[in-house]
Amino acid sequence: MQGLMQPWPLTVDRILDHACRWHGEREIVTRSVAGPIVRTSYARLHDRAQRLSNALLGWGVQRGDRVGTLAWNTARHMEVWYASMGIGAVCHTLNPRLHPQQLAYIINHAEDRIIFADATFVPLLEALLAACPKVEHVVWMGDGAEPPATRIAGLSAYEPLLAAHAPASWGGFDENTAAGLCYTSGTTGEPKGVLYSHRSNFIHTFLTLQHDIIGLSARDVVLPIVPMFHANAWGLAFSAPAAGAKLVMPGARMDGAAIHELIETEGVTFSAAVPTVWQMLLQHLLATGGKLTTLKRVVIGGAACPENLIRGFHEHFGVEVVHGWGMTEMSPLGTVGAPTAELAQLPFEAQLPQRLKQGRVPLGVDLKLVDDAGQPVAHDGAAYGHLLARGAAVAAAYFRRDDAILDADGWFDTGDIATIDAHGYMQITDRAKDLIKSGGEWISSIEIENIAAGHPKAALAAVIGRPDPKWGERPLLLVQLKEGEMATADEMLAFLENRIAKWWTPDEVLFVTHIPLGPTGKIDKKALRVAYGAVAPA
Ligand code: ADP
Repeated sequence: MQGLMQPWPLTVDRILDHACRWHGEREIVTRSVAGPIVRTSYARLHDRAQRLSNALLGWGVQRGDRVGTLAWNTARHMEVWYASMGIGAVCHTLNPRLHPQQLAYIINHAEDRIIFADATFVPLLEALLAACPKVEHVVWMGDGAEPPATRIAGLSAYEPLLAAHAPASWGGFDENTAAGLCYTSGTTGEPKGVLYSHRSNFIHTFLTLQHDIIGLSARDVVLPIVPMFHANAWGLAFSAPAAGAKLVMPGARMDGAAIHELIETEGVTFSAAVPTVWQMLLQHLLATGGKLTTLKRVVIGGAACPENLIRGFHEHFGVEVVHGWGMTEMSPLGTVGAPTAELAQLPFEAQLPQRLKQGRVPLGVDLKLVDDAGQPVAHDGAAYGHLLARGAAVAAAYFRRDDAILDADGWFDTGDIATIDAHGYMQITDRAKDLIKSGGEWISSIEIENIAAGHPKAALAAVIGRPDPKWGERPLLLVQLKEGEMATADEMLAFLENRIAKWWTPDEVLFVTHIPLGPTGKIDKKALRVAYGAVAPA
């Protein structure tokens, strides 16, 4: 027997409709790419996005067609999202930090018909477009009526395009229609396209709005530092309008001073970022004596959150840093480390080991651990296994690829190795390909680098495996020191002593001026392995 409830397709245009109708005057503040702070509201953003939809329809954009964006987090970028998704087209967020060849590859693979680009990325596109014959229109997302002088033929300006069109109406299609496309950053191989549906994005929005996950309210002021091109800004461009939260968009400036200024002047209460950006803010605040008077909570994820971040923000600023884990394929949220009732009663120091774990699942995500033979691994916090996931916002296949990515029971292998403890806290041991196998046993690169990054002189630390004739592989520790600091290898190794098993101790410590970051702001282990992963000198 079927239920007797209204058909109401879960399409994301309804999220902005809701924000426009019920939170219409709530602000979206952007540090524009040109510099000045600009303000709009959900009602105006909705109107402008619908005008843009008509511009897209005028260009013949059909349901399912891909519309690319090469843009920072701004109100305009949101307009393009909703403009394309609202008419059933697919918004393809391009990550400008990808290697240009990879960018051209994904533009062609996705067959983007139109690309919207911030001024910052126009030169990048200029160099790429000859290799992307399917792109029909490029739109410059600047303020004026005249696009900058460029070699891109027929470059359109955003504002005149909007001004020339009346608002379109949205929706009217099935909730399983594709809405967004995001390629993994290629840290593990060729970028693979994850094709979100309206339904999966809508359900992911509900999922993130759970109190223990991101849990935004209409009183929140949200600063998404994580880019919209990195796994949908972890859903914030959906969940903030859904909750009626004020949005503060950082545009192109992600340095400590710029972020701090925005937080204080706009009254930011919630933010989300990868650890490297948040480390930069901590260092900036400690160096300048800056205060955080409104910020309450920050979700840090995308890479393991080092202890000094959780401790530093708690002790100096009273800000709760919550660790989260996810991946592009999971829309992206998988777990968040909000405390259970028991944990919340403990003093901060006693909570810390649990808070360092990647956290617990929300309703809507399920996880399990299996060994190499596919057999279940105990949830005892010690035994580790391959982490498998399933849920309504987890990928079932990659765009235009035939490989099956789910097992017979519908589980997706995340490529991560993890433990789950008796309280349900998942902890990532490593990415399967980053684990170091020494003498037949695994060494977690993440655990060593997190401890090393907590050394007061270290800015960043990375651990990679290096081939070793006796043990198979041995760990090498690379350290980027804070500016003006000097340190010795012995000093770093002494810091690790008693914090890790003796046989995990890196065979060598190298001080490097710059640890490379990948396109999503994580340490680029692939580049490090190429540069330093050869056999150690005898
Ligand atoms: P890419 O695969 O291109 O790096 P993703 O952002 O989708 O892009 O990466 C997802 C992966 O990032 C996860 O599978 C996991 O290995 C890693 N990751 C994400 N969050 C965390 C975290 N909190 N701790 C450790 N690793 C994390």
